[in-house]
Amino acid sequence: MSFTVAVDGPAAAGKGTISKALATHFGFALLDTGLLYRAVGAQVLLGADPQYAARALVPEDLESETLRTPAVAQAASEIAVIPTVRAALVEFQRAFAKRAEGAVLDGRDIGTVICPDAAVKLFITATAEVRAQRRFAELSAKGMDDTYDSVLEDVRSRDARDMGRADAPLRAADDAVEIDTSTMSIADAVAAAIAVVEAGIASRG
Ligand code: C5P
Repeated sequence: MSFTVAVDGPAAAGKGTISKALATHFGFALLDTGLLYRAVGAQVLLGADPQYAARALVPEDLESETLRTPAVAQAASEIAVIPTVRAALVEFQRAFAKRAEGAVLDGRDIGTVICPDAAVKLFITATAEVRAQRRFAELSAKGMDDTYDSVLEDVRSRDARDMGRADAPLRAADDAVEIDTSTMSIADAVAAAIAVVEAGIASRG
């Protein structure tokens, strides 16, 4: 029987770190669904049609390092408002969620739209300023020359677009457990998430 963990939340709240830690701890497969939207966004920046790019996506497209840039993140959030693009990516995500070893999917609409029956749903948040600070440190460490203010602006504009879109807006599922990581260490946030999943496994018997 499959066991799906849905991890949703805004950009740079700690979803990726927590999802990776959960996958390692429990031996579950991991899908960062943001990469699907980023891969489509990257193709669109090169001139492709968004819907065509979403339909033509193959797993190897998710491996490029260039998907991590702020320009691709913005392009991803722009194409993510297009219903036909979202629809083209649903089946891949649902099939992944059924992986026999268990699966963690990290995204914006996993608990609400992609896997409404997920065994465990987490909603990871933090203030926009804390998230921008984290993303800024990450980009600086990679040698990118974005300023804190530009990263904060990027976080805010993506939040607004992700929460305001008509199709699958970013929001916590009613049955999601919320973890606000603003003042938590990574270790504490991971421990909190592991505890929620353990409770989910225990309740499944
Ligand atoms: O999570 P990440 O920052 O990589 O996502 C990039 C963009 O892709 C998000 O800002 C969002 O607009 C979109 N996205 C989405 N649904 C998902 C994952 C990402 O709309 N499940």
